[in-house]
Parts: sequence; C-alpha cells; structure tokens
Amino acid sequence: SGSMSRRQAIEAVTNYSVETDGFPEPLADTFGRNVFTLSVMKARLPKHVFKAVSATIDKGAPLDPTLADYVASAMKDWAIEKGASHYAHVFYPLTGFTAEKHDSFLEPDSSGASLAEFQGKTLLQGEPDASSFPNGGLRGTFEARGYTGWDVTSPAYIMENPNGNTLCIPTIFISWTGEALDKKTPLLRSQQAMSKQAMRVLRLFGHTDVDTVVSYAGAEQEYFLIDRHFYFARPDLMTASRTLFGDKPSKGQEFDDHYFGAIPDRVLAFMIELDRELFKQGIPAKTRHNEVAPGQFELAPVFEKSNLAHDHQQLMMTTMKNVAERYGMVCLLHEKPFAGVNGSGKHVNFSLGNNNQGNLLNPGDTPHENEQFLVFCAAIIRGVHKFGGLLRASIASASNDHRLGANEAPPAIISIFLGEQLMDVFDQIAKGGAKASKESGVLELGVDTLPPLKADAGDRNRTSPFAFTGNRFEFRAPGSNQSIADPMIAINAMLAESLDYVANFLEKELADGVEFDAAVQKVLEGIIVEHGKVVFNGNGYSDEWQEEAASRGLLNLRTTVDAMAQYDEPAIQEVMSAYGILSNRELKARKEVVLEQYSLALLVEAKETLEIAKTMILPAANRYQGELAGTAASLKAAGIETDHPVLMSVTKSTKDLYAAMLTLEEAIGGFHADTVEGEAEYALKSLIPAMVDVRTVADKLESIVADDLWPLPTYHEMLTIL
Ligand code: ADP
Ligand code: MG
Repeated sequence: SGSMSRRQAIEAVTNYSVETDGFPEPLADTFGRNVFTLSVMKARLPKHVFKAVSATIDKGAPLDPTLADYVASAMKDWAIEKGASHYAHVFYPLTGFTAEKHDSFLEPDSSGASLAEFQGKTLLQGEPDASSFPNGGLRGTFEARGYTGWDVTSPAYIMENPNGNTLCIPTIFISWTGEALDKKTPLLRSQQAMSKQAMRVLRLFGHTDVDTVVSYAGAEQEYFLIDRHFYFARPDLMTASRTLFGDKPSKGQEFDDHYFGAIPDRVLAFMIELDRELFKQGIPAKTRHNEVAPGQFELAPVFEKSNLAHDHQQLMMTTMKNVAERYGMVCLLHEKPFAGVNGSGKHVNFSLGNNNQGNLLNPGDTPHENEQFLVFCAAIIRGVHKFGGLLRASIASASNDHRLGANEAPPAIISIFLGEQLMDVFDQIAKGGAKASKESGVLELGVDTLPPLKADAGDRNRTSPFAFTGNRFEFRAPGSNQSIADPMIAINAMLAESLDYVANFLEKELADGVEFDAAVQKVLEGIIVEHGKVVFNGNGYSDEWQEEAASRGLLNLRTTVDAMAQYDEPAIQEVMSAYGILSNRELKARKEVVLEQYSLALLVEAKETLEIAKTMILPAANRYQGELAGTAASLKAAGIETDHPVLMSVTKSTKDLYAAMLTLEEAIGGFHADTVEGEAEYALKSLIPAMVDVRTVADKLESIVADDLWPLPTYHEMLTIL
C-alpha cells in the first residue's frame, strides 16, 4: 500500500538481508585494542613519566607539562603502528555534539621528503577555528580564538576508517581568556570541587589516606532504529530529527509485547557489531535489549568515572549512528521522534567513591548503622531539594520537553525516591535516631533445584526522576540525545555544596565538644527535617503529585524557557561560582546557548512543518478531493444523489489545514525578539501552538485520505518494518 515512494521503501526493506563477515575475533583481543591505555603507556613510557601520568589519572595530581614530549612521542609511534596518518583534538562544544580538528602527522621537510611530527606542545594545546561554535556571547568576533587542551585523564584512541585511521585526543575547549566553551571543562572542575568537599567529610570519618573522590556515571541509552528508506522518505526526520506529522498507530503504545521480546535479526546483527566497535574503543557496553516502543532499544555500558563515561558516551552515540548505517538503518537519538509513542531517555546512574573505599553509596546490609553512607545520602537529599531547579535546567531542551511529564518519563518536578528500607531509616532519624533496618529477603521460588534469588531491600520506582537503586542514584530525566556532562556537572555541584555544609556542620559540632555519633545524628536529623519534602515515593505520573508537589513548594518547570530562568537564581549562580565550576559570565553564556538552540530547533521545525504541509500534504489532500469530486460528479451524472460525507470532510479539513498553515506562516514571519529569552518565549508561545494546529489537521487528513495518495511513510510502517 501507500504512494509510489512509500511502496518502494517498503519493498527495499522487506528485500533486505543482513550481510556479515563471519565470526569476529575473540572478545579478549578486542577490548581496548584501539586505546592508548595505561598498560600501553606502561610499556612505552619511561618509568618516571608513566608514574606521573598515572598519578594524574588515578589521583588527580597535576602533570608536569615538560613530560608531554615523552607522551607525545610514544603516542605518535603507537598511533602510526595502528595505521594512523592524522591526529585530532576531540572536544565537546556547547551544542552537545562532538567536534574534531584533524591534522596530518606528516610535515614536509626541505628535501621534499616528509617526516612524522608530533610534539608535546601539539599534544598539550591546539587551536581549532573557534568561530563556528556557539559561545553565548563569551567571544566577540574580534577575539574569536579558542584553544583545545589535552585532558590527561581520558585516554587517546584510534578512530578507524577504511581509508586511514586517526589518533583522537580528548581535550577541553576554552576561549583565549580561559573561559569554558565546552561541556568538559566544567565537568572536570565540578569533579574536583566535589572531591575536595567529599574528602573533608571522609577525613572526619577517619579516612585520612584518601587522595581523591570521583563521581561515577553509567548512562542507559535508549534509541530507535528505522530503515533508511523510510528515513529518506521523511523530510521531517531528516531536517528536524523527529516526525512533525503522523497519525498515531492504532496499535501504538499497546505494543507492550515488544519490551524484552525477541530482538529482530537485523537489529541483533547491528547490536553485535556495535558492541564489537565499542569494545575496541574500550567502551564497556554491557546490556542490550528491546525497549517499550516498537523499534526502540536500549544500550547500557558498565559505569565508569564520570569524565571517561562522558567521553565514551559521546563516542558511543556517534558509533551507534555509524554502525546502524552499515545495516541500512538510521539510529534516531532524538527524545521524541514519534508523537504518542514512548520517547527515549538516557538514565544517568551515578555514585561516588575511590580506589581505597569503593562505592560510598553502598548501604551495606544494615544501613541504619552505616553513618558514612547516611551522611552522603543525606547530602544528596539536601542537594536535590536545594538545587532541583539546577538539575531540571541541566537537562532542558526543546526535544526533552516532549518527554518530561508525558507519562513515560518523570515529571518536570524534581523529587527523590529512597525506597522502602532507606525511607524507613530516615524516618527513624527524623524521630531521633535509627535503631534498625528493614531486611531485604530471599525470594521464595518454590522449586528446590533453583538457587535462591536475593530480593532488593526496596522496589523500583520508575516514575521518579531521581531514584535510589540500591547502591547508586539514577537520574531518569536526561534525554537520549543529551550529553551527560550537564547533569553530572549539576550533580557534582550540588554535592560539593552539600558536602561542604555537612563538613562545616560536623567540624563545628566536634569543636564544640559534641560526640561524633551525636553530631552525625544531628546533621542527619536537621537535613531530613528541613529537606525531607523532596522525598517522594509515590506515583510521579499522577495528577495528585502535581498538586502535592506544588503544596510542598517544589518547582514544576514544564518548559525549557521556565527551566533556564533558573540560571538567573542567585543560589545557583553562587554554587557554580563559589566552587569554581562556572563563573557568572560562563553560566549566563550557557543559558544563552541553550535558549538559542531551543529557538533554533523550533524555528527549523516550524519551517519544515510548513514546507511539508505545503508541498506534500495539501497536494495529497487536493488530489483526493479531486478524485472524490470526480466520483461525486459521475454519480450525479448517473442519477445517483448522495451527500458525499468523505468529500465534505476532506474539504473541511483541507480548508482547516490551509488556515492553520497561514497562521504558522505568520508566526514564522514574526519570529524576532531583541533578546534570546524573548525569542525562546516567542518560539514557545507562538511557534509551538501554530505547528501543533497544522499537525492536528494534517494527521486527521492522514486518517481520511486514500492510502495510495499519502506521501509519507506511516508510523506503523516505520516502527514495525525492520
Ligand atoms: P536498569 O535498566 O535496571 O536500571 P541497567 O543494567 O540497564 O539497569 O543499567 C544500570 C546502569 O547503572 C549501568 O550503566 C550500570 O553500569 C550502572 N551502575 C551500576 N552500578 C553503578 C554505580 N555504583 N555507580 C554508577 N553507575 C552504576
Ligand atoms: Mg534502566
């Protein structure tokens, strides 16, 4: 069925067969093969250099820049052995994407021959053309310089291409004034700030030998796969990364059987190759499965230090798109590619810890006795309450606005879920002291041959934006297409401030002669009493929660425009600047960029909506109208009088469509304001409603117009033919 191009697309999809190159090499040989790992460095660097570099990576010690020559030389030799002809500084500009500047290793010498050159200074610092990246007003064009700087803590790696490989060096990206123009710089700063305060707390607990505390992140990535033929038949997907039209499938969300069901062959082949590619880059891909919606899947790597997890996550997104292409598919990372169908998130699981003590969020079997764990947990509760607005702003985008609060993702209200056991412990603390922990049990299976399974001490709550999940917290609001840097920066920032508070509190109590246990109870009790309001264990999707949250005074920031206004809050500016994460200027720049991107995304969508309505949908409706009118005339000529209900309805909808298009055209024409805030506000209040109106009529037409005239692949086709 469907129009010519749709029919061809379907035919191409159904005729597709997976081609493979047989069994890959053993996993053990693959993992980290393209990474300049510590063990590669150990083998290739002079001892004192290796020692210095590993101290920087493991303990956050500063690196003597004069050692860079040694590293550069070893890196170059290794890369050339791996077939690299070029090197690239990889950086993470404010767009959220990954950028690279490539240079050849080869430098011609006077004799006409050429020489592979790569010196310490080239490793340490690069200068990409900075003018094409958004800077939120941090740079005028007369001061457009930007520098990349080597991030020693994230290993270099080889990017393969059939035509030649590239050595990739993860870097930060700053302006010539030293202001951050990227996501990475504040991530590193926030990590350091959190570590400093966490160590103060640990010292109070007697851990004087701790070098550093790191934050760990494990990001679960949801995504859609569709066949490329459908993709290229959908100009909206191509320009806006989401469908701007599409009648909901009759069997949409009810495709529940898809979740954890069998994975289609082609998709499985893609997943296997994807894993292999990720393993080569040392990315510990672990879990893969179907997701709720048809055509939707998830990939979760094993957690890593958040800096590394960030770089790996970015590389993972790129790799996913590339590998999907090899299998004739397109990987959609947009948060809401299909309206009315479950969207895609990126749950950011986080914990903190270090090499000596492991995970600091591990409650043990008797959390009520685990004072150190409770203190860190309380610091998080306090942070989420005080900085809910910051957390919400950290994940704001035009596309993520579609998810939050849409009964598939947590609401825009940031609350925290503790689970039954921990909730109970904190309830006891609020009443004067924790005496016992509710026990987690063993699941009764009723079959003697099955080994016993351990039950968790609390059930999951999938509706909470910020949930304790046994030994970590899961921030469930980030969107599938977002960098994990911003949420991790927000988390580290709130932790730095909260742990600073806790350390100050305890230090003062102890100085006043209060006994340690009593001081701990006092700080815990104070926090749970003052900030317990942010704890919510009920159904986050319910309407009652919207009301309840309002009565508790929790923010409910439904749109990016509301969320970004948080960056003007003195408390947020204060935490960012006081801990050296982002200056007020840098923070303001970030707000500008987010709002610019928001307006731009919506303007692109609005223009594309109009274009498709004009050139595809209206013509289809007119053709059908003509066909029906012809039928009506023939019937009349044959002496048959009917009232032509379909013709009437197509005519009415066509008229409505045209009217909605005019309104949208006007709204697009009126897009201008003097400030980025004004433009974003305009996009929200004028562009979105005008687009929605066009779409509503167009989707109605889709359900009336003859299928063979309909130009766009349908939701049902895109989501189920893989
Ligand atoms: P689920 O879907 O049940 O939440 P997944 O296995 O899909 O669980 O993903 C869990 C994620 O949490 C993985 O990326 C995992 O590595 C990560 N994770 C596990 N333990 C920790 C921890 N201590 N700190 C941070 N992330 C963690
Ligand atoms: Mg999950």
